[in-house]
Amino acid sequence: MANDLAVKRIGVLTSGGDAPGMNAAIRATVRTAQCFGIDCVGIRHGYAGLLRGDMLPLNEKSVKGIIWRGGTMLYTARSPEFATEEGVKRAADTLRHNGIDGLVVIGGDGSFRGARDLAAHGVKVIGIPCTIDNDIACTSYTIGYDTACNTAVEAVDKLNDTMQSHERCSVVEVMGRHAGHLALNVGIASGATIILVPENEYDFERDVIERIRKARLAGRNNFTVIAAEGSACSHDISKKIQEATGIETRLTQLGHIQRGGGPLVRDRVVASYMGYFAIRLLAEGKGGRVVAMCDDKYVDIDIDEALGMTKDLNAEAYQMFTVLTFLDEGCIV
Ligand code: ADP
Repeated sequence: MANDLAVKRIGVLTSGGDAPGMNAAIRATVRTAQCFGIDCVGIRHGYAGLLRGDMLPLNEKSVKGIIWRGGTMLYTARSPEFATEEGVKRAADTLRHNGIDGLVVIGGDGSFRGARDLAAHGVKVIGIPCTIDNDIACTSYTIGYDTACNTAVEAVDKLNDTMQSHERCSVVEVMGRHAGHLALNVGIASGATIILVPENEYDFERDVIERIRKARLAGRNNFTVIAAEGSACSHDISKKIQEATGIETRLTQLGHIQRGGGPLVRDRVVASYMGYFAIRLLAEGKGGRVVAMCDDKYVDIDIDEALGMTKDLNAEAYQMFTVLTFLDEGCIV
């Protein structure tokens, strides 16, 4: 069906780290485009696939039965080749040669940097924030975060059962090389003893060992330390706790399990709305924008502006955690 909108044919790709809800975002993008009479092309393997012209036509049937599936039906990739002046130019040319006049990029802030470069080459591009780290500054929420938090909390709950039985200390490493949002949320929700995040400096003796000692004196016999990947070497943390306290300590690195699984309701709904919103923006002729959530509303933000923003860890949430565990005062845990 022909349309008189600003775009006739659009591409959609997923890029960077995968997150639960990517499929739901693809589905919403494709279905909205179809409804508006816009042709839709799936680009496989992110920017790497774009450089190779790895494309397939998508319609409402292609995206049937994927809203509840984890991963991404379009595959994802990291492409150093794309992230060069020559690579971006070639990618923009590939889109033009294929008659694609708009692009939806579903991914994290690395993918958004690529999208910004494509926008500078005249491509109408819209970014949809999708990462389990929730570390994209322009939006309060990124698709995949809630599901990943729930996956991690479920694992920590199970570990707590066995740690309690053996009166052990559990060190659980969760994802987050540069951002501790996931670790903080998981630590709060699982009733952890200590949370270590890359944003906060800490003194190992005072903030880890002393806290565990105080908690033990207060009657606690099992302990959970949630450590974001970027906070320290979790092997060292685990070893040092055992050496300093004599408490048997076990390390669990949750690893890629945090990226998998079907998206929970929040991620399905946010992904659906963001996919729909992205196509509406393209249909209005907008490009170089990012879809974001701000005060529970969906908004669009200039991509350059979005990439210039910074996002701090929720200091109030961290403070609340220390109050709930009474650790600052050294009272009952
Ligand atoms: P995420 O989107 O999850 O943050 P990455 O940081 O790995 O994941 O970025 C995904 C891809 O985006 C990279 O492989 C690269 O092709 C592209 N990209 C990342 N940073 C840039 C950049 N500064 N300029 C251009 N493209 C980039």
